Amino acid sequence: MSNHKPVSETLHDGVSVVFDVDDVLYEESTGHHRLSLIQNTVFGKLLMLDGAVQVTSRDEFMYHEMLAHVPLAAHDNPASVLIIGGGDCGLAEEVLKHDRVRTLTQVEIDASVLEFSKEHFSDFNAPVFSDDRFQVEIADGAAFAAETEKRFDVILVDSTDPDGPGAALFTPGFYRDLKRILRPGGIVVSQNGVPFLQPEEFKDAMRGLASVFEVVSSYLVAVPTYFGGHMTLGWSTDAAETLSVDESVLARRMAGIETRYYTPAHHRASFALPRFIETLLQEATGKG
Ligand code: SAM
Repeated sequence: MSNHKPVSETLHDGVSVVFDVDDVLYEESTGHHRLSLIQNTVFGKLLMLDGAVQVTSRDEFMYHEMLAHVPLAAHDNPASVLIIGGGDCGLAEEVLKHDRVRTLTQVEIDASVLEFSKEHFSDFNAPVFSDDRFQVEIADGAAFAAETEKRFDVILVDSTDPDGPGAALFTPGFYRDLKRILRPGGIVVSQNGVPFLQPEEFKDAMRGLASVFEVVSSYLVAVPTYFGGHMTLGWSTDAAETLSVDESVLARRMAGIETRYYTPAHHRASFALPRFIETLLQEATGKG
């Protein structure tokens, strides 16, 4: 029996999730976030920023594989990739498994999250830091998107939720800047929360993206630590064909990449939305 008090994550008015704490491994105020790392019997190491769970060593593969491999397998030449946020570098690790990726730029606002994760999550992110294709900028992702001259084939927004520093990554101005820095045929994937608990956040994001991109859709991933049912990942592009790439093509592009969650069949199936999520998407985009 541990001497530590359990940690509670308030997800929504009326819902909190409680994690038993076997050990408190680290606590710090970084200037951008209140960061804590706890050890939990089920989830292993669990990173919280401002009281919200960001990543755990046990289920990170589910979220990171779906965020990375779905757009990378759907794109015919994802040479240049941008990650905004993603400080734990689990997403970067999945992206760099693709030989077709020639450069990966990551823009993270909080240097402490990166440094901290390099030390404490090396079991999954160690390969990133010795890969010459990986470049990090410490900056606000919204400011970077507004100013950069670089262009990208795939952009992955691995953000915190829309409050605190993450709020800047859910605005129409940011979505317009993403379109500006996306190459023709490119794809933007964004973390859009759990619509059972956050239907309005999901709709706001989809509405904003649909005001900028010709095609806005969403696909699903189930991540045990993100309580409340399916998590949605937004898909924004002007290239509608990226939504219907044949399974055999996906399998060819994924050849040699080991996964524990992603399969080409599940890639296609993950775009089949339950009715209530489909309705939210249709209401937000005006298409259906
Ligand atoms: N998968 C996680 C989730 O859904 O809870 C997100 C994990 S990742 C650790 C989120 C990262 O986004 C954090 O490292 C945070 O510092 C970063 N972040 C938040 N706002 C940002 C901004 N405006 N620009 C760049 N990075 C930002």
